[in-house]
Amino acid sequence: MKIAFIGLGNMGAPMALNLHKAGHQVAAFDLSDEACQRLGNEGVRIADSASNVVRGVEVVISMLPASQHVEALYLGNGLGHGQAGLLRQLPAGTLVIDCSTIAATSARKVADAAAKLQIACVDAPVSGGTGGAIAGTLTFMVGGVTRDLERARPLLETMGQNIFHAGEAGAGQTAKICNNMLLGILMIGTSEALALGVANGLDAKVLSEIMRRSSGGNWALEKYNPLPGVMENTPASRGYAGGFGTDLMLKDLGLAQENASAVRAATPLGGLARSLYAAHSLAGSGALDFSSVIRLLQGK
Ligand code: NAD
Repeated sequence: MKIAFIGLGNMGAPMALNLHKAGHQVAAFDLSDEACQRLGNEGVRIADSASNVVRGVEVVISMLPASQHVEALYLGNGLGHGQAGLLRQLPAGTLVIDCSTIAATSARKVADAAAKLQIACVDAPVSGGTGGAIAGTLTFMVGGVTRDLERARPLLETMGQNIFHAGEAGAGQTAKICNNMLLGILMIGTSEALALGVANGLDAKVLSEIMRRSSGGNWALEKYNPLPGVMENTPASRGYAGGFGTDLMLKDLGLAQENASAVRAATPLGGLARSLYAAHSLAGSGALDFSSVIRLLQGK
């Protein structure tokens, strides 16, 4: 298929590359020249603007940081930086797949505007981190109508392993913030327990293995241990570089709290987790992987 891929960061670049390797005709664009160059070096065609990258394509996929970037890309006035306003430039029948994690309200706003122009649109945020993006094993949580999801499915299956239909437009985003609220909380809980054991002189690897195989076992202990040197290939073992940034986790926990207020849900641990990641970010760790929150608890 002819695909435009917009947003070539930690997640977008490997996702676009997997589509390219699967034989699709991928053209890519990012506001950052460096991001474009990195993917261009892998043989993917790079366009010089969002408007140019979507010319003649059947599908547009975006992987951007936050709601404002997605709204500007699809609904912007076409004037400022990143304000492409792509929906007005796409022919009816184009399929838009936004994989960014954004507010469900923003996803619905884009989907409603797309529907008026007969453009198919699904929100398809992902879980699985940069490792999943590289390996093509992401989980997609899709919001939108079944017909549009079925059009998107072969592409999602190239980039991922599990594709869930969460419900109508915006539902993928709601599922995503529920999951990430839990992830943010469990990483802090796991860090707290590990820090306590290490402060008592326990070996980090031995304690991690005991908890992994006991009732405290969880995803962080299985795949993403927050202490350096316990597991290979985790952000912790490479100075918390790459991975899922503290500021992105903070954004997701903020979305969860906004959503909780809107539906009057009680999310006390989600609120506390947001505050702890905010303090960690303010202390200068916003760009580090979120598992570095263990440093906050260890006073490092
Ligand atoms: P990133 O910051 O590495 O990449 C985002 C890219 O988007 C940047 O290169 C930026 O230049 C580009 N961009 C911003 N606005 C643009 C525009 N208008 N036009 C073109 N390019 C634009 O972020 P990431 O880690 O790749 O995450 C992307 C999204 O995926 C976020 O919403 C994040 O919450 C979500 N996510 C990330 C992970 C992870 O592990 N990193 C996991 C799951 C979901």
